[in-house]
Amino acid sequence: MREACRKELLATGLATFVNTRVKTIEKISDGQFEVVDHADKHWVGKKVLLSYGAREVFPDLPGYLDLYTRRIFPCMFQFGYELRGSPSGGLLAIDGLANLQHAALLTLDGHRFADKMTIYTNGDQILFESLRNRFLGTTSIHLDDRKITHVGQDTETSQVVINFEVGAKCLESFLIHRPKITIDQNLPSQLKIKPSESGGIQVAPPFYGTNVRGVYAAGDCASPMKTITNAMTMGSYAACGLSRELQTDKY
Ligand SMILES: Cc1cc2nc3c(=O)[nH]c(=O)nc-3n(C[C@H](O)[C@H](O)[C@H](O)COP(=O)(O)OP(=O)(O)OC[C@H]3O[C@@H](n4cnc5c(N)ncnc54)[C@H](O)[C@@H]3O)c2cc1C
Repeated sequence: MREACRKELLATGLATFVNTRVKTIEKISDGQFEVVDHADKHWVGKKVLLSYGAREVFPDLPGYLDLYTRRIFPCMFQFGYELRGSPSGGLLAIDGLANLQHAALLTLDGHRFADKMTIYTNGDQILFESLRNRFLGTTSIHLDDRKITHVGQDTETSQVVINFEVGAKCLESFLIHRPKITIDQNLPSQLKIKPSESGGIQVAPPFYGTNVRGVYAAGDCASPMKTITNAMTMGSYAACGLSRELQTDKY
């Protein structure tokens, strides 16, 4: 879809795509903005639309990254359908997911694809107790509070192997874990753009302008709803707002 959009825009002769990393951005005296990229090239424009996404921060767990999105899934609406009917699945209640409500919700998401779920709390006793109370009487949801040393994949069955400081390892068809998300505030802070409560860029619908006139933001960097369709929708509305502002500036 991106390719098709780019092709159409390029055909108008009105758009140029430059694949470079922005280093600095500032509002210069005549109301224009100047961007300096990593090759120290300067770019000047009348409006800015920030859409630089968000970054995942992974837990410090050996083996995790090799399995992320392959057997460790951040969201069961996006992953796991192929593994439906699995005998067992697990959830890592660690880092950002060491949270009663969130861990419980995602465990139930996983339960739709596995007959049995185990929640691993990695030594967190308080969380272990809260989750035990939450699922009291639910025989298909288990808890394990042992400290995890590393995770891997069984070469024969492709199952996830969870290794602990003590006791036998466990095997699961898949694990659920959602890494923390961070949004870089470097470019917005250079423009004195206000951050949102959730740590992104604060924008006002429907056109997603920021508190600095002429600067818009769209997608993951400006929304807690981190999906492709939302990013596309925000981007197209921001582009409408931005082009209307260009017209109003002129007349
Ligand atoms: C593992 C995973 C699976 C997902 N699966 C789905 C799914 O199935 N369905 C769905 O709808 N969504 C899914 N998402 C979410 C989706 O990928 C995002 O919501 C979407 O890509 C956001 O688009 P964006 O343009 O805001 O940011 P991005 O797609 O992240 O694009 C931002 C771009 O800006 C660039 N950039 C960053 N800093 C700078 C800089 N200083 N200068 C220049 N460029 C910069 C980045 O390199 C990147 O190319 C998934 C996300 C992850 C992590």
